[in-house]
Amino acid sequence: MKYPKLREIKGALTSLFTRPYTTKFPKQPHIPFSSFRGKPQYDEEKCIGCAACVNVCPAFALSFEDIHDEIESKRVFTIKWDVCIECGQCQLNCPTEEGIVLSQEFDISTTETRADLIQRIEKEMIVCECCDELIACKDHLLWTMEKVGPLYTSNTTLITFAQRRLSVSDHLPSSKESLRSDRFTILCPRCRREAVVAS
Ligand code: SF4
Ligand code: SF4
Repeated sequence: MKYPKLREIKGALTSLFTRPYTTKFPKQPHIPFSSFRGKPQYDEEKCIGCAACVNVCPAFALSFEDIHDEIESKRVFTIKWDVCIECGQCQLNCPTEEGIVLSQEFDISTTETRADLIQRIEKEMIVCECCDELIACKDHLLWTMEKVGPLYTSNTTLITFAQRRLSVSDHLPSSKESLRSDRFTILCPRCRREAVVAS
């Protein structure tokens, strides 16, 4: 028989006169520490749709799908909470620091299906007016303009985008051939190069 060490005896005696380390959950609600990393949640207003979070998620809990048809152009983001390991990489690498935030919520057990453990958000996308390819999310362009300030005026797509928002410029039908006349339209990088350099 091995006798307990003095350290263990001291710990056992001390615990008789101190409060327990454990909480009374689930009898009483558990309040996590302020630095606790719980369930991540997208903020549809503050997310700019850049997809950086999807690229850094080690558990593949985040994904996005671009939908582009005659009716709409949007990027749909999905979090699968049952796959997430709550590592915090998504929040750490979010350029706005608020697009996705880990909450204090830890209890995501459900008696329903896995479909209950999903959050989806949608972001409107901007399309190249020449080749019809997707360029970026609208909020991403707005965020970029705000970040670079007046420097955005050196980018023709951003100027045109800003003018459209202020209704001081009309969308002219594109020649669809990336010719010089298309320079003052919203173009993807490939069409911009063709319109400016090749034509
Ligand atoms: S906390 Fe980690 S695992 Fe969960 S969604 Fe964010 S990056 Fe992915
Ligand atoms: S803004 Fe943040 S939350 Fe939104 S897609 Fe980019 S990294 Fe993800």
